[in-house]
Amino acid sequence: MDFLDEKLAAYIDAHTAEEPEHLQQLNRETWAKVIMPRMLSGHLQGRVLAMFSRMIQPKRILEIGTYTGYSALCLAEGLTSDGKLITIDINEELEEIVQRYIGNSDYRDKIETLTGNATDLIPELKETFDLVFIDADKENYCRYYDLVIDKLRPGGFIIADNVLWSGNVIKNRTDMDEETLAIDLFNKKVHNDSRIENVLFPVRDGLMVCRKI
Ligand code: SAH
Ligand code: CA
Repeated sequence: MDFLDEKLAAYIDAHTAEEPEHLQQLNRETWAKVIMPRMLSGHLQGRVLAMFSRMIQPKRILEIGTYTGYSALCLAEGLTSDGKLITIDINEELEEIVQRYIGNSDYRDKIETLTGNATDLIPELKETFDLVFIDADKENYCRYYDLVIDKLRPGGFIIADNVLWSGNVIKNRTDMDEETLAIDLFNKKVHNDSRIENVLFPVRDGLMVCRKI
């Protein structure tokens, strides 16, 4: 997972906007109480997502994979004053922590949480999105992409997380597990899709950024 030299990573963190206080708390509480805390975006990636969102100034954001709400709170920073972020997660055990942190934030009226399987819930959404963040189960990345592409406005963005999958994407195909194969398929699919242009940013575990033409 750590592609960068430790000292260089520390230098980058030290020269990046600080993690806001409420996100520091959520980060700490997730690491103390929730399983698989490594899934939380964290300081650097959180600031990258917040910066992308502020550059895009979206009115509608869809997030697939809320976890404890960290990335939702980062992405919400760039919403327009009348903007809204919808975030989906299948794990109802996370609801308490998510509601508490969103409820205590400046974005409580702008973030809508949905609990359920994203493959069932996305088709029901009637919105047109300016930004979609894909960060749920890796096996479904291609499916999520297909489900959201027509709900994205021309000029809108899809960002997908963990597309380097700890570097496993460059293994021999025969050595790849199901998740790695799914991520590799996703990366090739978006790269070959003439409806979008894409850049794979080597941020943390890899962010695929796609712009719909
Ligand atoms: N975006 C978060 C991390 C998400 S971790 C952050 O950056 O902080 C991935 C999440 O996807 C987990 O919380 C998991 O419950 C959720 N998930 C997995 N499969 C899902 C599905 N089919 N539908 C909706 N959510 C799913
Ligand atoms: Ca992730």
